[in-house]
Amino acid sequence: MTSPVWHPFTQHGLGEPIPEVVRTEGAALHTKDGGRFIDAISSWWVTTHGHCHPRIMAAIADQAGRMDQIIFAGWTHEPAETLARELVRITPDPLQHVFFSDSGSTSVEVALKMALGFWDNRGEPRHRIVVMEHGYHGDTIGGMSVGARGVFNRPYQPLLFDVATIPFPEPGQSQAVLDALEAQCREKPAALLIEPLVLGAGGMKFYSASLLAEMRKICTAHNVLFIADEVMTGWGRTGTLLACERAGVVPDILCLSKGLTGGAIPLAVTMATAPIFDAHVSDDRARMFFHSSSYTANPIACAAANANLAIWREEPVLDRIADLGDRQQDRLDRLATHALIRNPRRLGTIVAAEIGGSESAYLNSVGTRLKAFALERGVLLRPLGNTVYVMPPYCIDDTDLDTVYATITGFLEREPRMGDLFA
Ligand SMILES: *Cc1c(COP(=O)(O)O)cnc(C)c1O
Repeated sequence: MTSPVWHPFTQHGLGEPIPEVVRTEGAALHTKDGGRFIDAISSWWVTTHGHCHPRIMAAIADQAGRMDQIIFAGWTHEPAETLARELVRITPDPLQHVFFSDSGSTSVEVALKMALGFWDNRGEPRHRIVVMEHGYHGDTIGGMSVGARGVFNRPYQPLLFDVATIPFPEPGQSQAVLDALEAQCREKPAALLIEPLVLGAGGMKFYSASLLAEMRKICTAHNVLFIADEVMTGWGRTGTLLACERAGVVPDILCLSKGLTGGAIPLAVTMATAPIFDAHVSDDRARMFFHSSSYTANPIACAAANANLAIWREEPVLDRIADLGDRQQDRLDRLATHALIRNPRRLGTIVAAEIGGSESAYLNSVGTRLKAFALERGVLLRPLGNTVYVMPPYCIDDTDLDTVYATITGFLEREPRMGDLFA
């Protein structure tokens, strides 16, 4: 019988295999038919410490035995209070308020509504959002509106709202990007929304911390809110807890999700500075922040996040991340010697490179073929077009890491025709 399940980002018409996972542990997924797969992409960037981390699993079980779900409008509970206090403690001082939701997309929607609410409540309504080319902020209508336009959102484009876009800083283009931002800021937009240092879904594109710091300065000078979408870059991915740290940048609004619970259960937060919160505070009900989702601050999800934060407090997580970075670098250095590898790069635990170099139709299928090749060899990879990346859980061991890189090399060596094409 065919399954009634409609999978995300899946073309069911191609009949590609859909493995059934029955158990996860560390960096591995175990399937129903006894297969073991190395999760080289942290199950789409969520799993940080490793799958089924004992401390997080225990916190979920413990919380589930006491309180499941409560209304969060006008009510509160200890797991959310603890989590909010702890998030305020570990993030830069100006971020004083924590709004809960349940996915990266909703954390971005909340950030946009906070920014517009801020300006509206101050009596200077502003509605324009500035974003960066190739950005990704989720698949809701708002998330798509502030993200790159392409084949993945073409049918919906008439519904997406207009944004101002600054170019992605290709090498040597930093000044042009800053000039474009400066010009946009003169038009009094509500906010700049940006993925700090790494544009994830847009192709694991990196830009420098100094540029991020310059962009922040321009926003401050023009009184434009700075929203950092750290849904992917947060929780150590780039080598520090937050990518903004590397640039000494403090956003006005910060979006976190994915690794917030160590990747175990859905939860997101949008953190804001006092001025953003205060702009919504008055004795007028019409000025409250009109947003909620049913499962806002679910206690079980908050307990998982609290366990994640305890791991960060009590275990040498940053050392593990640095070590994984070094181990990735060794393997990347070897991979980079292959003739088909272009633009090899690493930031923290994230490694990426292009295969080949042009955008030909032939190459566009490289990612799909590599994904299938890896699947047959027990490795979960999901290249972005011809960009291959490795972003494993922090617990991955050398043997598994070797297998991941050997799989990529093995694929390249099977591609003699590509060698001819790009010789
Ligand atoms: C994944 C991602 C999102 C969307 O998060 P979901 O939980 O999938 O809704 C938003 N922004 C960035 C930068 C992301 O990587």
